[in-house]
Amino acid sequence: MNGRDEVVVALDVGGTGMKCALVRPDGTTVHTERHATDAGRGPDAVVGTILDVAEGLAGTARAAGHTPVACGIAVPGVVDETRGAAVWSANVGFRDVPLRELAATRLGLPAALGHDVRVGGLAEARLGAGRDAGHVLFVAIGTGIAAAHVVDGSAATGAHGAAGEIGHILVRPDGPRCGCGRVGCLEAVASASAIGRRYTELAGAPATAAEVADRAAAGERLAGDVWREAVEALADGLATGQALFDVATVVLGGGLAQAGPRLFDPLRGALRERLTFHREPRLVAAALGDEAGCLGAALLALDTLAKESR
Ligand SMILES: [Zn+2]
Repeated sequence: MNGRDEVVVALDVGGTGMKCALVRPDGTTVHTERHATDAGRGPDAVVGTILDVAEGLAGTARAAGHTPVACGIAVPGVVDETRGAAVWSANVGFRDVPLRELAATRLGLPAALGHDVRVGGLAEARLGAGRDAGHVLFVAIGTGIAAAHVVDGSAATGAHGAAGEIGHILVRPDGPRCGCGRVGCLEAVASASAIGRRYTELAGAPATAAEVADRAAAGERLAGDVWREAVEALADGLATGQALFDVATVVLGGGLAQAGPRLFDPLRGALRERLTFHREPRLVAAALGDEAGCLGAALLALDTLAKESR
């Protein structure tokens, strides 16, 4: 910071909407806006909207007296952060889109492309619920389950951009079929969608995961069984995560984490039962809400900038 009020143009692109922000290097947000992704239009149109929105944000920043210094974009799916390419995404339809280069060219700014859950984890580890720990596992539980392993403020991407797919750990070999095609993955049992689906199947009446949690807490037996099955599967997945990563803090985000103590209390107990010589991690709820993706995209862009100027 040298007197100029520097900001990063940040976009978190999801299947239905884009969260966008201008973020200062200290992680404070000076402006936010939202746009529809409208993925049904096809990937080219979505890329066009991303570039238009990013350019618009840079203009908004300049008009307000800020200096845009970089652009960070988060997308779902498989992301090759080294090449800056959105390799594959089921819900946005990307197939090998060189989004980083496209954004850098359009904005005339250094750009970074990150995976939505990995940058969310980056933000939680550096600015949110994991900020006092050097080793953090961020686990987002919503329609699917994905994780980010963050060590000293940097998220591991894997050799092919696919690190952190904790939702596809095998936990129930005779369990339900997963969206990936295999049987018994963690997210086929314990994602918010899986919990709702399982209850609906058994009860013959539709319910969301939040409603299952409410009914379980109110003493309904069927809901209690479904909830317990999901918590135990989650504990199996987290125990595997802890065996691999030995983190100090596990941050749970996504819709299911909003169940609060109904999730965290039994999950802590179930995880404790599964750990032998491994140290028990602190299990906490995410702190940044749905801003995490934008903040993380901004952090990734700032990291890229710092590396380039070295
Ligand atoms: Zn799977």
